[in-house]
Amino acid sequence: MSTPHSDVLIVGCGPAGASAAWRLAKEGHHCTIIDKSTFPRDKVCGDALSGKAITLLRRFDPQAVERLISTDSAEPIWGIRFVAPNGKPIEVPFQDPLPEDRTQAHGYVSRRIDFDSFMVDEVRRHEEIDLQLGVHVTNIEREDDGWRLKSKDGTWEHTCRLLLIADGAQSAFARKVAGLHKRPEHHAGAVRAYMEGVTGFHPDGYIELHFLKEYLPGYFWAFPLPNGQSNIGLGMRTDKLKERGISLRDEMQSIIEGHPLIGERFAGAKLTEKIVGYPLPLGSKLRRASGEGYMILGDAGHMIDPLTGEGIGNGMYAGIIAAEQAIESLRQNDLSADTLSAYDVRIARVLGREMDISYRIQTSLKWPFIINGLANFIYGRPKLTKLLSRMYTDLELRAQVAKPSFWVQAAMGKNF
Ligand SMILES: Cc1cc2nc3c(=O)[nH]c(=O)nc-3n(C[C@H](O)[C@H](O)[C@H](O)COP(=O)(O)OP(=O)(O)OC[C@H]3O[C@@H](n4cnc5c(N)ncnc54)[C@H](O)[C@@H]3O)c2cc1C
Repeated sequence: MSTPHSDVLIVGCGPAGASAAWRLAKEGHHCTIIDKSTFPRDKVCGDALSGKAITLLRRFDPQAVERLISTDSAEPIWGIRFVAPNGKPIEVPFQDPLPEDRTQAHGYVSRRIDFDSFMVDEVRRHEEIDLQLGVHVTNIEREDDGWRLKSKDGTWEHTCRLLLIADGAQSAFARKVAGLHKRPEHHAGAVRAYMEGVTGFHPDGYIELHFLKEYLPGYFWAFPLPNGQSNIGLGMRTDKLKERGISLRDEMQSIIEGHPLIGERFAGAKLTEKIVGYPLPLGSKLRRASGEGYMILGDAGHMIDPLTGEGIGNGMYAGIIAAEQAIESLRQNDLSADTLSAYDVRIARVLGREMDISYRIQTSLKWPFIINGLANFIYGRPKLTKLLSRMYTDLELRAQVAKPSFWVQAAMGKNF
């Protein structure tokens, strides 16, 4: 019996891989997508779906967001509460004023066990996609005209011409074939816990980023989930973790047991699951994520925002761009490294500037006095908060905000 073959094979059905499969299907192209897991399955994450992720979902299918919220597993989010090391909160809505119609929010928080299952169900809606779950690939070999993949248990084998690797932060292919090794200054670690009974969330459902001085330039987060549950976490750059010898799990435990600034919000709360951690390969230094017959997507390609830790929306973008490049390269019958490098060019164009701005802000966050000064300045200036609310969608404004000159002008009373 001959080995099953596909023109395009995607390894990993997380947000990046699923998006690539959807994009191909939307253009009528067939592909095979495999994942080692069966769904539902958990993925350690903050579970926040940014405006970017929601916009892309809507672009795939205008009804997709309706289907997501009809599962009652997604909490609508209307803004972000930033808390400075001195405890001063700055609340920036996604839109100012917030809309009267609250049927669909700008962002959501949805546990990955639910969201990723929803994504897999969306993939199942397309007959062009051959979805195979429970296939743990451990062996990928280059052949004359493509790749041969084998599963760990030896029961599955497949060949393909073009390989899209979307197998997450610990991708062996990304390391061994593409040479994308971990660089501690462009990499972070984070822990997450689910809790119930955390108090003090904004009534409109804001996600919260707390810049506690002990963990700068990282942060502690508290994101509301449906039914009084919440996702709580702590993340820091890997080089800083090593330098300071910090155990994120222990620090997280001590924050919820009684941190002087926020401990009281956890006084009547309880952990519903144990604290778990996972790595975040950051995109603060975009590296080549394509080669002869392959493209690498999402976390496997180191594409997480270095400031916010957002990787779902970026992974979805990478999936779309990889699929479009796949269609073009197959049309030209050219899967050479040279041709596929157009994928890296587009990734840099679409995500590069945003990552760059995020990285600049992230590196300036290491000094508590800067954040305290900014928080003191913004606090009680509604016109400035209104302007900052445009920052989520306006990259130009975000670039301005990252420059000291913006704040000098603001201090001189310009526009505020
Ligand atoms: C603690 C933490 C908090 C975070 N918070 C947020 C947040 O709030 N918002 C946000 O946008 N991002 C967040 N991120 C980042 C986000 O989780 C990732 O960027 C996102 O999941 C990347 O999607 P992906 O499809 O590239 O990879 P993944 O979601 O990791 O999917 C990879 C898939 O590949 C499969 N796979 C792996 N190996 C194999 C194999 N050998 N064979 C077959 N299948 C395989 C896995 O089962 C998995 O389904 C967070 C990350 C961490 C660690």
